[in-house]
Amino acid sequence: MIHLKNFSFLARTLRRNPGMIRVQPALNLFFLRYIARFRIKDAAGHWIVHSHLPPLNHKAFGRFTRDHLLDRSPGPSHAQIGLTNACPQRCAYCYNRERRGQAMDTETILRAVRELKEIGVCWLGLTGGEPLLNPDIARIVEAAADGCAVKLFTTGSTLTREKAQALKQAGLFSVSVSLDHWRPEIHDRNRGLAGAFATALRAIDLFKETGGIQVGVSAVVGREMIRRGQVEELLEFLGGLGIDEAWLCEAKPSVAAFWDPGQVINEDEHRQLVRLQDRTNRRAGLTVNYLGHFESREYFGCNAGHKMIYVDACGEVSPCVFTPMTFGNIRERSLKEIFGEMKSYFPSEDTCFINKNFTLIRDAGRGRGFLDPAASLQVMSQARFGPLSGFFRLYDRGKRNKKA
Ligand code: SF4
Repeated sequence: MIHLKNFSFLARTLRRNPGMIRVQPALNLFFLRYIARFRIKDAAGHWIVHSHLPPLNHKAFGRFTRDHLLDRSPGPSHAQIGLTNACPQRCAYCYNRERRGQAMDTETILRAVRELKEIGVCWLGLTGGEPLLNPDIARIVEAAADGCAVKLFTTGSTLTREKAQALKQAGLFSVSVSLDHWRPEIHDRNRGLAGAFATALRAIDLFKETGGIQVGVSAVVGREMIRRGQVEELLEFLGGLGIDEAWLCEAKPSVAAFWDPGQVINEDEHRQLVRLQDRTNRRAGLTVNYLGHFESREYFGCNAGHKMIYVDACGEVSPCVFTPMTFGNIRERSLKEIFGEMKSYFPSEDTCFINKNFTLIRDAGRGRGFLDPAASLQVMSQARFGPLSGFFRLYDRGKRNKKA
């Protein structure tokens, strides 16, 4: 059932963005069905379904409609970029752990942002390391936010009131502060730093004070937490913080410490998280945005290397943040060229590439946790891909009809 307020937001979105009416009807219906699982909210002036989509009243949503739904751009719609590899925390599951090299300077990052937008990116996540440690972060946000919805993933380290305000002024629409547990000692242990919990809570308060950014928490949930029903407890705690969104992501086998089939979430646990998301979203208050649901076979599937791209802090281009592989460095080739080549190996598919193929990465790496281009191609020669997800089945059908 669609929440009543959603109708009003959708009607206003259609008025602002009349091109939506020309989108293939089956895709519009698909979106309506997906959106029905969320309450669209006005978070600090942004009409937000959840933070993995551009706000409906943002120029980026118009670009998404035009470039991806109408013009069928072959480029990615979503990207993440690393602003630094430096970080005071030492998380066991950090996807950046094995990435090395010379960090991009600000001019190179700005060029990457420009090239990402040129090839179709309308949602950009800033990550790291700890992106707040990049002294030019506000400048980068400002350059990206023209036509692109920009979201920050942060531990909150080094945030000040002034920095939070500067990010709001620069056009940041959403922030996710990492917080994995309601017990400070467990969060601090997971993050390898005493005081990490207190830092996260303070950052949440400072971002809320700006009054212009959607404020959320991103939590990595392990199988043990799911089995013990502790994700519910975590959501209770997060609801009490007065934040807008909880972005949940299961622990992924993207680093050596997690290259264990026993750690990969199973179908039952995935369904438990989806049910929890749906239950919570029926109530007013906190929005739960479970990434595994967005990326499930019923909805958008795995977009790694297809509609998603990651440029790490050293300029290496990967299919997504969780895939420790590179297909080239933007200092050596244009982003468009690297993406085009990478995409030829990544058809869109129904479920998480890394959950299914991490053993190939482990074997090709021979002890290294991050694969160079040659080893990455070796993995791709053996990788398995599933059928298309629900969305891409319809999308591809529309593409064929358009060509006919
Ligand atoms: S590999 Fe997994 S984490 Fe990466 S985009 Fe695909 S579904 Fe998401």
